[in-house]
Amino acid sequence: MSLSQLARSIKESATLKLNETAAILREKGEPVIHLGGGEPKSKAPIDAVVNCATQLNTGDIKYAPADGLPALKKAVIRYTEEHYNKLIGPDNVVCSSGAKQSIMNTLYAILDPKDEVIFPAPYWVSYPEMVKLAGGVPVIVTPEDGTFHPAVREIADMVGSYTKAVIINSPNNPCGVMYSRDFIAELVQLCEKKSIYLIMDDLYNRLVFDGKAAPNCFEFATEPIDRSKLVLVQGVSKMYAMTGFRIGWAIANPELAEAMGNIQSHQTSGPATPSQWAAVGALNGVQSSIESLRLTLENNRNVMVDRLQTFNGVRITKPDGTFYCFPDFSAYMKESQKLAQLLLEKVRVVTVPGKEFGMEGHLRLSFCGTIKDTMDALERMKWALDPNAPNELYLGERRLVRDWL
Ligand code: PMP
Repeated sequence: MSLSQLARSIKESATLKLNETAAILREKGEPVIHLGGGEPKSKAPIDAVVNCATQLNTGDIKYAPADGLPALKKAVIRYTEEHYNKLIGPDNVVCSSGAKQSIMNTLYAILDPKDEVIFPAPYWVSYPEMVKLAGGVPVIVTPEDGTFHPAVREIADMVGSYTKAVIINSPNNPCGVMYSRDFIAELVQLCEKKSIYLIMDDLYNRLVFDGKAAPNCFEFATEPIDRSKLVLVQGVSKMYAMTGFRIGWAIANPELAEAMGNIQSHQTSGPATPSQWAAVGALNGVQSSIESLRLTLENNRNVMVDRLQTFNGVRITKPDGTFYCFPDFSAYMKESQKLAQLLLEKVRVVTVPGKEFGMEGHLRLSFCGTIKDTMDALERMKWALDPNAPNELYLGERRLVRDWL
């Protein structure tokens, strides 16, 4: 079979693949614990469900405008004013089938072949493949100081004549770190000065802990939104636990937004109308579910970090937000894919190898599951990795004997 060069250059999504592996093992009755997941356990807000169901009950489900229903745009405009203190209009908004499509649309609309897009490591698993899909070249900045906090200087050093954009995801998937206000401020200024796009992937910005708040990129922008190269990406997937509805949006200058809408009109048309009505319900409805999810996640984060601190030699950076932790397990094994495979094979715990996020030696562990699962998984991992642990472990009725250390 002959596949295009493009198809051959794109890797499978490691995280979606892991979901599949975990589901297959579970079907076989294996006691799998999934620390690889990327979605909260909680249910969609009732206002989302009711709004969607009301629409479905009419039986009148038709195409929506390619860039989103007016009602959803209106809700996004209101949300942006409330949470970003930014006044925008409908021609600044493009609603899509998930934030993933919003990012993809942006890249398609701005990249010419060989244009470069800079982003820091660790990065969300899809960024390199998305940039390649749009014909661009990913340029990765790994913080020199060994932390997860890049310096703006390190990004500035990589800006050259081919640079079209920088992508920033904060708080960050996979490490949970939130970049500082100063970092965001300087980066907005750098991108304005160099006239390059800054794509702010703010998907987790409401899921922040320890009384902190995510910096608002618009606060530092000096150019008016209608000329700005700042693109904000948001969506309902994480904050409202609505991953399956597939609704995200981008806020951009009108010229770019129109181009993105045109691209989307030929690819998928507007997002599914029932999902858009669900998003309208979520955005306009009672907001308490976000705070309750945030509190649950903060508690889960504390449990995970406490347990990880009992592992000898594991280096942990306490996540400021999201539902991911990205400890450095290189003291146990340098190759993260081998380590993740060992944990899956031996103790049936699914983790995501750091290599997929551009950082070897780490594993991404999600704390969006139940506390019990988090504690059990970490107990199994500690047993699998710690040579001083007792030789046996029971998984239900199954007796495991450690014979690999
Ligand atoms: N950006 C980041 C950083 C993400 O983690 C995800 C989802 N895992 C997305 C974008 C895409 O989200 P959506 O479900 O809205 O497509």
